[in-house]
Amino acid sequence: MILAEPPPSQGDVHFRVLGIPVRIHPFFWIVALILGIQGSEVPPAKVLIWIFVLLLSIVVHELGHALMQRHYGGRPRIVLYGMGGLAICDDCNRSSRSQILISLAGPGAGFLLAAILLLTIRIVGHQGGVSLGSISEEGAPDLVGIPLMGATFYWKPFQTYQANLMVFDLLWVNVMWGAINLLPIYPLDGGRISRELCLLGQPRQGIMLSLQISIVAASAMAVVGLSWGSLFVALMFGYLAYTSYQALQAYRASR
Ligand SMILES: [Zn+2]
Repeated sequence: MILAEPPPSQGDVHFRVLGIPVRIHPFFWIVALILGIQGSEVPPAKVLIWIFVLLLSIVVHELGHALMQRHYGGRPRIVLYGMGGLAICDDCNRSSRSQILISLAGPGAGFLLAAILLLTIRIVGHQGGVSLGSISEEGAPDLVGIPLMGATFYWKPFQTYQANLMVFDLLWVNVMWGAINLLPIYPLDGGRISRELCLLGQPRQGIMLSLQISIVAASAMAVVGLSWGSLFVALMFGYLAYTSYQALQAYRASR
């Protein structure tokens, strides 16, 4: 996602990954903690695992964007803040092709992380993989499965519940969020890809067309959220539909 970069603060944590500077704003920890403590009496280990998974997953996602930005000659930096992460590049190539590949690389890095995790589970001698259907066909009733995007991600449970929780959270965050991020909705990665594709097809009307697509897709996701019984998903996508509508009105007024 690309939103405004927060100003530097005294509580910032700085480090580098593969040569790319990463800054973590204090609000990142606060929001991660709030998301981790849902319900009463959540064990501290569960919250710590959640924060670790969130940190790793967001850094990997933004690293996907940043490595592609560097591939196109830019000098990117990563910022983690209350709204998630940003891969910022002031001097990047702005061609449609580079922008589309930079946007795809974030969710792509998350999918790669999920694949590496399942591969690691197999390498350490455990059963694990993806099944396009239910896992009963795998012939092992003791497998744990997460149904995600029409497939089931499964593995043979580890001895400790912490290890199983970590696998569950990593698969859930990287596959589910990666897929949601690819929806053609502003300001998600998919919204940026949709804008570039619309501009390639219709240079004059492309921005308006991509905003209209964003309004329809976000409204549809808000209804899907309600059908899931998730007020959070419904409100979030309802809000994104509204901000796309506002952007469309502002764009029309400026022409
Ligand atoms: Zn992204």
